[in-house]
Formats: sequence, structure tokens, C-alpha cells
Amino acid sequence: MDKLVALCKRRGFIFPGSELYGGLNGTWDLGPLGVLLAQNIKHEWWKSVVLKREDVVGLDSSILHHPKVWEASGHVASFTDPLIECKVCHERFRADHKDQIAKHEKAHPNPAWTDIKSFNLMFKTFLGPIDDEKNKTYLRPETAQGIFINFKNVVETSRVKIPFGIAQIGKGFRNEITTGNFLFRVREFEMMELEFFVKPGTDKKWHDLWKQERYNWWLRLGIRKENIKLVDLPREDIAHYSKGTTEVWYNWPFMSFGELEGIANRGDYDLSQQAKYSGRDLSYFDQKDNERYIPYVIEPSVGIGRAMLAFLIDAYYEEEKRVVLRLHPKLSPIKIAVFPLLGNKNELITKAKDLYKTLKTSFEGEVAFDDRGNIGKRYLYQDEIGTPWCVTVDFDTLKDNTVTVRDRNSTKQERVAIGDMLTFFTRLLQ
Ligand code: ATP
Repeated sequence: MDKLVALCKRRGFIFPGSELYGGLNGTWDLGPLGVLLAQNIKHEWWKSVVLKREDVVGLDSSILHHPKVWEASGHVASFTDPLIECKVCHERFRADHKDQIAKHEKAHPNPAWTDIKSFNLMFKTFLGPIDDEKNKTYLRPETAQGIFINFKNVVETSRVKIPFGIAQIGKGFRNEITTGNFLFRVREFEMMELEFFVKPGTDKKWHDLWKQERYNWWLRLGIRKENIKLVDLPREDIAHYSKGTTEVWYNWPFMSFGELEGIANRGDYDLSQQAKYSGRDLSYFDQKDNERYIPYVIEPSVGIGRAMLAFLIDAYYEEEKRVVLRLHPKLSPIKIAVFPLLGNKNELITKAKDLYKTLKTSFEGEVAFDDRGNIGKRYLYQDEIGTPWCVTVDFDTLKDNTVTVRDRNSTKQERVAIGDMLTFFTRLLQ
């Protein structure tokens, strides 16, 4: 893990937040390659959850909601974690994180613990210039409530009919008691959430379907089967209103299998609560069955940082002569790197630059140009950042207009005609 964190910093994927001032706990900044990786993950999610389906639409709600939203959702009363403090050194822990407490007890023999308190994870803030109770609201800890409070708007303005979903990608904030394990537990993170509304009674079927759909998405994007599993949580581990929660667990290096994504059957809890607190009717009239009801909701929800971490861990390989990120090409920040064989031969540079510009404008995906150092070093650099294909313009190119394409995983090379480049890479990327 330390090696991966170092690579992410060295190559410009992820920087510690506010590093200039010594860092800010639980925050990370995405560098140029991190932004591309995150965009690719979001794009693949949006494509599979929204674009390729006929029954899901998108939404982008504001981060700040009316404070009543959070009373209705139950977050004000119970979005809490159990907090415990060591009276000797005043370090604070989550009381349910037994491994961390055990570690602390080893370092501090006979620690004295405070009683367990409930700590609310929502960040408070104030609307306008007066910091008082009346103006208090919260940074959203999830994007889901923004969907529930817009349920009626969407039903009334689009042609959706149950079963249908509303998807949203956006920032969430949680004042976690302890943060750590790189991107795994942070205080500010982007989330990808789908609320899929169904007729009560059909919820089990749809829950099973989304479990399978989401599990397959991870496999399709290259997560190794042995590192991922679906786990149905026992009753005592889920919210009282939930009709069942399943999690996608990943085999993390710091924890043998733990949550990567949650897929919950939330019943009609959220819409009923928002209806009760707002005094508005959030029921749905089902014309097909001539029936009115509050829909049940199936919710797949995943953090982009946590997803990014799983993809990076799964792709990281140390080989005898290189470190390689075997990212799925659809996720790779850079898809193609174009080189002139030698960095000091003008005719090679010009030809390579022309090819780079053509690919850059016509190819769907990021393309890079590199003429620094020798070709071996350039390959090593591209392997480390997960670029699936490197294209080299050499002296034969000047004669026959073909180039060498080198595959990241096998390191095998083949000759391809420049005229065929676009179709060649488009086919590979599919
Ligand atoms: P935990 O039990 O680990 O605190 P949770 O059950 O509260 O997590 P959810 O509310 O189900 O988490 O959040 C949905 C998803 O958002 C998680 O599966 C995870 O991918 C992501 N997530 C939640 N909290 C964090 C965090 N602090 N940092 C990064 N990602 C997070």
C-alpha cells in the first residue's frame, strides 16, 4: 500500500490535501492523472447505470439542503458513530473499530476509556452572515436525499414510469472520527448513487437484479474475481427501516474483505419521511395497475475514491524489471502514448507529432506525446501510469508509414499502418 501511495504522489495521481501547510487529515487532492482516472470511473458508471438503460435519468442537486431534509432523513438524530476516548492521551476512536482499539491498548497498557458517546458525522454550516441555530444547516453526507426531495419534480417533468431510477454523482462530507487507509476513509468524497423506485412487492427482484448488475460492473472493469464478493448483511448490522442490505466487499491489503459499495433495499422509508416532514404528498399513481403507493427504493451507492483505490490496488503489479498498473484500458488515464524513436531526429519528431495531433483530435480518449530520455525509460513510465498502448515512430515509418504498437501487459509489439490507427485502437477499446 505504501508503494502505491508513493506511486500516486510521484506520478501525479493523488496528493495529500493542503500539503503545503502540513496536510489536512482526511482530505486528498487529485492530480492530472487522478482527475482522468476519476472521470473514467464516473463515465463508466454513468454509462452503465444511465446511458445504456431506458429506465434511469440523471440529477444534480445542490450540496446544501433545507435543514429539515436532514431531520426527515433521520441524519440529525442518528447519523452517528460510537465515539470513545483514551483518557491518557485523548486520542479518539470509533468504539466499533475493535482492531484499532486493540492496537491502542497494546501501545498503552491499562488505558482508561471514557464512556461511549454518539458522535454525529454531519458537518454543520450556516446560511448567511449570522451563525445561529436558525441559520444552521449541513453539508450533505450523501447525495441520496437530494434525489428523494426531487422525486416529484422528476415524475412530473419527465416521462419516467415505475420501475425507474434517478442517478446522481456528487460530493458528500462526513466528519469521520478517524480517517485512514489512503482514500478508503476520508472526510470529503465524491459518490455515485442510484435510487431505483419500484412497486412494493417487486423490491426483492429488483434488489437481486441490481446486486448482480453492480457486481458484474466491477468484474467487467477488471477487478479480479477472487478479490471481490457480494455479502448480505445480517439484520443487526443494518438500519431498522432497511428491507435488506448487501455490500460489495473487496479484499483490501489492510483488511481482509470490507465494504466497497452498498446496495440497500430502503423500502419506502425516505419518501415517507420527506413527505411527512414537508407535508407534501410523495406517493405515486401507477396508471398501469390503477393503484397509488409510496414506491420502494433500491440504492446502489459507492464512493469514487474507494472505487479508485480498489482499481489501483487490483491493477498494481511489481515485475522483475518494472512496476505496471494493469488498469482496464477504459479506466487508464492515458490510452495511447506516441513517441519518436529518437528525441533528437527532427524528421522522426515531426512525423510523431503529426500522428499525435491526429489521434488527439480524432480518438475518444487521452493521448500523450513523449520524446524525453530513451525509449526504454518512456515505456517504464507509461507502464507505471497504466497506459495500455505505446506507439513508436521509427525510421521504417518514414519509408512505409507503419508504426510499432507496444502492448502494456504482454510488452509484445506489432506493426500497424498509420492509416489504420483509429480503427485499430477503437476496436481495442471496445
Ligand atoms: P462505513 O460503515 O465504512 O462507515 P457506511 O456504511 O457508512 O460506511 P455508506 O453510507 O453505505 O457507508 O456509503 C456508501 C459508500 O460511500 C460506501 O460503500 C463507500 O464506497 C463510500 N464511503 C462512505 N464513507 C466513506 C468515507 N468516509 N470515505 C470514502 N468513501 C466512503
